[in-house]
Amino acid sequence: MDELKEDCGIFGIWNNPDAARLTYLGLYSLQHRGQESAGIAISDGSKLYSYKQMGLVNDVFNEHVLSLLHGRHAIGHVRYSTYGSSELRNAQPFAVEYKDGSLAIAHNGNIVNYETIRSRLEAEGSIFQSTMDTEVIVHLIAKSDGQTTHERLASALNELKGAYSIVLLTEKELIAARDPYGFRPLVIGELNGALVFASETCALDLIGARYIRDVLPGEMLVIGENSVRSYMFSTRVTRQSQCVFEHIYFARPDSIIFGKSVYSTRTAMGRILGIESPVEADMVLPIPDSGVPASIGFSQQTGIPFQMALIRNHYVGRTFIQPYQAIRNFNVKVKLNPISGVISGKRIVVIDDSIVRGTTSKTLVKMLRDAGAKEVHMRISSPPIDYSCYYGIDTPTRSELISSSHTVKEIEQFIGADSLKYLSIEGLRSVIGQDADNYCYACFTGDYPEPFELAKRDHQLILFDEGRLHGG
Ligand code: SF4
Repeated sequence: MDELKEDCGIFGIWNNPDAARLTYLGLYSLQHRGQESAGIAISDGSKLYSYKQMGLVNDVFNEHVLSLLHGRHAIGHVRYSTYGSSELRNAQPFAVEYKDGSLAIAHNGNIVNYETIRSRLEAEGSIFQSTMDTEVIVHLIAKSDGQTTHERLASALNELKGAYSIVLLTEKELIAARDPYGFRPLVIGELNGALVFASETCALDLIGARYIRDVLPGEMLVIGENSVRSYMFSTRVTRQSQCVFEHIYFARPDSIIFGKSVYSTRTAMGRILGIESPVEADMVLPIPDSGVPASIGFSQQTGIPFQMALIRNHYVGRTFIQPYQAIRNFNVKVKLNPISGVISGKRIVVIDDSIVRGTTSKTLVKMLRDAGAKEVHMRISSPPIDYSCYYGIDTPTRSELISSSHTVKEIEQFIGADSLKYLSIEGLRSVIGQDADNYCYACFTGDYPEPFELAKRDHQLILFDEGRLHGG
């Protein structure tokens, strides 16, 4: 429940007179993938314009700003920082001018050999403007001796390791690419002859675009004035490793991710959980919103009635001012409130998508008992998270993950539940189905598809920006 954060959402559109507004709407529907900053870069065919700010999409853009963004081709980005601090210089799209023109890039994922590449580029004289991994792509493009933008981008991407779904805009072209593992999603749509790219299909739905297919792992699509070309750019042979957590938690349930309905996979996870770990109870309660489809599946499988007896406050920001006097269970209560008239005296099964540190679940169980629950059974629609993610999801360090050092029984005792069960890896794989081998499960198994660098540099640069102090 809200303990893991996605790192970004990206959007692109080619050849629509309303490109800025459609990109704004696309970002609006991808807001759940990043709430720290938002930006749009747009081309009128001869110039690039870019605008980005810290904040939510609706706070960053208004009629006036959108009216200044002229052009038929655009890309956009919403950010949650997993690499580089949360400040304006790290907001995207990252736009630069170099010897061959202007370009802007929007990236979702984590480049795991970023430190090595950046150190090498700095030793060769490159000067960086930001502390985010995406900037190395721009430097590698500038240094490449490829003849065209897509050749230079392909040579840059072939130096990267890790996770990246990318949209890149120049004055004359829009390029979309996905890393050969396919960690993060990227879909292609069509709207009245315009091509659209988005992290999730919910962005296509909002603007009325038709879903065509996914950008394939290792594929680059180059869209120009009169052409659409597809290349398999990667020189590496890798197994596909699409992030299974997109299905468990991150993506919106109304999206199609990696060719599968997120709502359907989540309800199937609940059904398998009901088969693997049934329990005698009076009602099934979801942790809204992400636990709802799995709870419906669990209820369908077990016949235990589904009840929405935990109400979520949808208007809670990332931080809130707390009262001086402690209010019991405040941090959870400000987001979720139980309806004690429904819960009191009942045996409850609570369905959540994951347990990270265990402290939120502990508070929640306590809150349900305070509301009168007779028994509280927790069922988790994913296996225990034993390992950190290095491919674009902000997980705590391994030592902070309660499952990495505690048995399920110990966690059950820690959170104070009458019983605790997780979905098994086999159960999860059976939900994914015949292409289960094309997914990443590293946060459950430790079987990392791509080696990663652990060390992060300690950035010391302090910048004054619009009178405010930003530390890198
Ligand atoms: S480690 Fe987990 S969260 Fe990260 S890409 Fe793999 S499945 Fe997704």
